[in-house]
Amino acid sequence: LPNHSLDAELRARARLVIPGGLWGHLNAARLPEGYPQYFASAEGCRLRDVDGREFIDFMCSWGPVVLGHHHPVVEAAAREQAALGDCMNGPAPVLVELAELLVGLIPHADWCLLAKNGTDATTACVTIARAATGRRKLLVARGSYHGAVPWCSPSVAGVTAEDRAHLISFDYNDAASLDAALAEAGSDLAAVIVTPFRHDFGRDQELATASFARHLREACDAAGAALILDDVRAGFRLHLGGSWEPLGVRPDLAAYSKAIANGHPLAAITGAERFREAATEVYTTGSFWCGAVPMAAAVATLRELRRIDGPARMRAMGERLRDGLDHLARRHGLAVRQTGPAQMPLMTFADDADWRKGDGFCAEALRHGAYFHPRHNMFLSCAHGEADIDRALEAADAGFRAVRRMD
Ligand code: PMP
Repeated sequence: LPNHSLDAELRARARLVIPGGLWGHLNAARLPEGYPQYFASAEGCRLRDVDGREFIDFMCSWGPVVLGHHHPVVEAAAREQAALGDCMNGPAPVLVELAELLVGLIPHADWCLLAKNGTDATTACVTIARAATGRRKLLVARGSYHGAVPWCSPSVAGVTAEDRAHLISFDYNDAASLDAALAEAGSDLAAVIVTPFRHDFGRDQELATASFARHLREACDAAGAALILDDVRAGFRLHLGGSWEPLGVRPDLAAYSKAIANGHPLAAITGAERFREAATEVYTTGSFWCGAVPMAAAVATLRELRRIDGPARMRAMGERLRDGLDHLARRHGLAVRQTGPAQMPLMTFADDADWRKGDGFCAEALRHGAYFHPRHNMFLSCAHGEADIDRALEAADAGFRAVRRMD
């Protein structure tokens, strides 16, 4: 960092007026040393901090940026809608256009509702499932993240036991544990909510097995309960029709957000016909939920992802990164694990319980211009090209060298 760091100055000012300096997961205090908190600008797969350092970005705003920062087609659509109106007394025509696009793109979807955040969408799915079934119990995989309100927050501060009275936990990919949870819920089971793969913070990722996904589908059908897919993080990166399409398992309700509008604030709930009436009865709304600009951005984003086959492109670049990291780790004689889908990769080091190696690797790679994350899944975007991946691998090479220099 330069002698006079604007980032440090902003953090010092923020500490006085913002509890903890910043709320939530984007607080840079949770990252290895040297990571910036404040950013000046972003373009494509490049991110520039307020002190003028530039990075190849492998977090993509923690998911939303799927085509690349500041994508010209998306921003043109947003500007065009902004010139007409955004926050009005009701939606603009683009709402219907977007709803038709989503229902056409996502095979399980017969209807959709829009909202702002992933938490809005997961919470609405649960409410709709309970309204439709008249039941209370919700099965949740231990450690899965579904949002930041009392029923699902990873913090228990300010949460009462009653907020979670009807939650029952099971272990992801574990049929026996799921069966035990189903038995406990009995005839009061409203829904099971799952992420498309296990992407819990601070542990290796785990893909869903096809047999687990099928078992879940059958169990929900047998119980007359809703299978809710929380596709907030993975949606539109793995498959445009929903992340479990390749497994051939379709949910009853799904929650989307993050990548849907390439960084513009929007979330969607999609559902099957059987849940339409309940989705009509529940009261979901918000002051900004009919904002037209993010909807126009979403239409442009989804069309562009479809036109260029975004998921395949991100997979190819993710595989290039993963192969390169494997090659480098081997050359340095370091044991690493790479998990999750290539579009949302995570690399962790063997024998690294205190994250010293992962943190050291990332801190050094950052100094060489690549913004990685040591313990949260990363994200590729369609703006990452071969030259960007190769450039990032040079930064990773420096990171591996730093790990070798430890002890
Ligand atoms: N579900 C999953 C799987 C998520 O990854 C997230 C966000 N990280 C959420 C729900 C909540 O989304 P939001 O932060 O937009 O409320």
